[in-house]
Amino acid sequence: MKFVGAHVSATGGVDQTPERAHALGATAFALFTKNQRQWRAAPLSSQVIDTFRRNCERYGYTSGQILPHDSFLINLGHPEAEPLEKSRVAFIDELTRCGQLGLSLLNFHPGSHLKQIDEDACLARIAESVNIALDQTEGVTAVIENTAGQGSNLGFRFEHLAAIIDGVEDKSRVGVCIDTCHAFAAGYDLRTREDCDRTFAEFDRIVGFNYLRGMHLNDAKSAFASRVDRHHSLGMGNIGHTPFSYIMADARFDNIPLVLETIDSSIWAEEIAWLKSQQDTADNPAA
Ligand SMILES: [Zn+2]
Ligand SMILES: [Zn+2]
Repeated sequence: MKFVGAHVSATGGVDQTPERAHALGATAFALFTKNQRQWRAAPLSSQVIDTFRRNCERYGYTSGQILPHDSFLINLGHPEAEPLEKSRVAFIDELTRCGQLGLSLLNFHPGSHLKQIDEDACLARIAESVNIALDQTEGVTAVIENTAGQGSNLGFRFEHLAAIIDGVEDKSRVGVCIDTCHAFAAGYDLRTREDCDRTFAEFDRIVGFNYLRGMHLNDAKSAFASRVDRHHSLGMGNIGHTPFSYIMADARFDNIPLVLETIDSSIWAEEIAWLKSQQDTADNPAA
């Protein structure tokens, strides 16, 4: 099964998100469980939690189809003690909120060294942060997203993702999400089917498809290997349509949320319909 959707707005409450996803014809979705630009948020009320869970059931979303994203402020590899601690506390809160909502995944950006510590020290710090957080929570998998490598952000090489996984004690609760725009901007080409074969073979060799818990499907306004993170609508950017057709027809991307973070939400329903149309009918004979 392919699960396709978009990162929908949680304005008015997280309990609104399943209906918004359903309105797009989505079979997957992403959301922020709190304002992504603020450190603090009021705890989720039992009413919001109940309504969210009921709406997920009503519109047919199981936890494996939902990929919540954490706050942009969190830096689990922060070189300084105090902000690192603040990030760890906030990350534990994010995992807790996901657990309360019945969600099983939490997508996060690995972290930045801010040019104060080296890459390896930062990656080790991130793994340690994940260990601390997993130790204090239950049932939610920490899903590391690859990055474009903008600024001092780590996670732009598959080796970075592998190094973090390597340092995480509970391998059953760590996974990765690959963002196509970030991969392309980081120098992993996806423009042709041969590029996709090569890039995903490298991913499998360095990280392993067994750790793949989600994908962000974005075209790129930014140039190849530019280390700049600028998303575009599918087929309108520098990547083109090819990898999205490729992913939809490839069983290695089955049963995980495939989520659009493309820039024009007014065409998400069209983009989702187009993605669905790219599935190989051979592995979906009922369609
Ligand atoms: Zn992304
Ligand atoms: Zn991005």
